[in-house]
Amino acid sequence: MSAYRGRNPLGWISKALDELAASTLERNPYRIEAVEGPYIYRTGRRLLLAASNDYLGLRVDSRLREAAVEATHRWGAGSGASPLVSGYTDLQRELESALAGWKGKDDCIVFSSGYLANLGTITSLVSRGDAVFSDELNHASIIDACRLSGAEIRVFRHLDYDHLEDLVRKGGFEKGLVVTDSVFSMDGDVADLRAVASIAEKYGLMTMIDEAHATGVVGEEGKGLAHAQGVTDRIDVIMGTLSKALGSQGGFVCGERILIRWLRNKARSFIFDTAPAPAVLGAAAEAVRIARSEHYRRARVESIRDRLASLLSSRGFPVERLCAGIVPIIVGDARDALEAAELLLECGVFAPAIRPPSVPPKTSRIRLTVSGAFGPREEEILVQAVDTVAQRFGHGASRHGLRPQAC
Ligand code: PMP
Repeated sequence: MSAYRGRNPLGWISKALDELAASTLERNPYRIEAVEGPYIYRTGRRLLLAASNDYLGLRVDSRLREAAVEATHRWGAGSGASPLVSGYTDLQRELESALAGWKGKDDCIVFSSGYLANLGTITSLVSRGDAVFSDELNHASIIDACRLSGAEIRVFRHLDYDHLEDLVRKGGFEKGLVVTDSVFSMDGDVADLRAVASIAEKYGLMTMIDEAHATGVVGEEGKGLAHAQGVTDRIDVIMGTLSKALGSQGGFVCGERILIRWLRNKARSFIFDTAPAPAVLGAAAEAVRIARSEHYRRARVESIRDRLASLLSSRGFPVERLCAGIVPIIVGDARDALEAAELLLECGVFAPAIRPPSVPPKTSRIRLTVSGAFGPREEEILVQAVDTVAQRFGHGASRHGLRPQAC
């Protein structure tokens, strides 16, 4: 025992944290003091929030709040158990049916989060001896799920479907699964799902897409990219989240009845996790109804996004194939991204810097998001702020010269 006295087993952490801090990569949650429509209060200041995934502005909608309260009154504050024990209510079943109908699939399973939906689904579909083909820019929850599955992971270059096919042709696996985000969370660009489906059909692979950033935002009634590209029937697994455009919390998977039955039996993040709270299920059900019917919200997202994209493109920023509510301003260096975030703050806009490991090294950025609840005033604030950053960091701007005039 005495040999261990005086040792600090967590000492390595302070060393590692010092290194993170020195490289400006240490991260801390941002404290929000209050929310008021599309604005937040931070350190006493009212700021336009342009960093949320609440693309339709539903998170603060009074109808969702009321639905959450009503569900709580009726079913209680928590669900109390795993869905397979006693946590599965009619509320959850009705939401699953609504999601399946919206997405054009037979059935649906709801998880406590999108992260857990990806984790449970991928690990139920592939294991040792199988292969999973994954776009290099897929979300972390997909990457983690692939690792946990035990399948061989073959990563294809971003949106490079020739590379995907090369990796498939190598063979050497039993079952194969191709998995891709439909809208990529950090760049806002989109997958070519027809190309994915064609390769999968040619080689007999399963297909899975993550519609976290497309659900509610992309396509007719916000049905998502699979619907917009006409491939709903050609994609086996359509995953989405209740936590972004639907303004609530939770994740889901839609597909054929046998797929959902399988996931109910095999997905460990469904079986061993307490079912989502009634409040979030009630709010999500109301959000699906609103997202389907209030088209003007999507139209607002599109028009503001396109205006920002053309502004950025005129200043030399690469903004291609944007079709959801995400507008990246890639400045490269982590310190520059921090400076860009400061400039936005000066203009009354909150959108923090996104740095590695959330994005690859040298692609630090501001990830702006646009909300369908932004009115003309919010649009002008955003355009002014983005122009200020674009002048500072855009093509031809002096990297270390004078700061542009703040708005
Ligand atoms: N997939 C993608 C593409 C995401 O961006 C996210 C959330 N950032 C998730 C899955 C996880 O969803 P949730 O936040 O509901 O856990």
